[in-house]
Amino acid sequence: MANEVLTRSPVVVLLGPPGAGKGTQARMLEEAFGLVQLSTGDLLRAAVAAGTPAGLAAKAVMEAGGLVSDEIVLDILADRMAAPDTGAGVILDGFPRTTAQAEALDRMLSARGQKVDTAISLEVEDEAMIDRIAGRFTCSDCGEGYHDTHKQPARAGTCDRCGGTAFKRRADDKAETVRERLKAYHAQTAPLIAYYEGKGVQDRVDAMASIAEVRRALQAVVGRVSA
Ligand code: AMP
Repeated sequence: MANEVLTRSPVVVLLGPPGAGKGTQARMLEEAFGLVQLSTGDLLRAAVAAGTPAGLAAKAVMEAGGLVSDEIVLDILADRMAAPDTGAGVILDGFPRTTAQAEALDRMLSARGQKVDTAISLEVEDEAMIDRIAGRFTCSDCGEGYHDTHKQPARAGTCDRCGGTAFKRRADDKAETVRERLKAYHAQTAPLIAYYEGKGVQDRVDAMASIAEVRRALQAVVGRVSA
């Protein structure tokens, strides 16, 4: 149940390198505003687990830390965007990752009479990301994110959110794969900051601050663009 009611349904893009906290913050925004989190990484991992043709094609690229083809990612996202729950407003987490994806997103939204309301860049220092990622794990049941040092469950071994007791770590969170993912971010995704600046919808948040401070800063931006 959302804590805050918005007057209009925003489209929020979260930009930032792996480990910046996009997933954690997207889930918080989802809860605070009743928005729907769309993570192409989660959708791709589900396709890999289900062994679909898209999943089979994406698996090796994901394990190497590269970017999956725009064609596969756009197909998977368009399917998910077609579900009625996305009408409430969305937080895009991990998408777009290339200029071609950003342009395709603009076309997809324009066909629905929507546009990107804010692209929020989570600003972090690269060196800190390897440590953040190496310690992270999620609840296998509800996907809530945790970290060995920064955010442990209140009761060890039990998920705060759903009470689940099984946790998992991502196969691509190994240090060497993270370095490749950071390279892919700087080469292909960071240029999107200029793309959204050009459209006058770029916002920045200092994501080296605590999870609670980052959440407050993000909520202020989403509240502003949804008013
Ligand atoms: P993430 O969960 O966002 O860190 O994504 C995990 C992996 O999925 C990435 O390293 C890419 O291999 C792939 N991936 C996720 N989203 C995209 C995207 N928008 N474009 C291309 N590849 C993606």
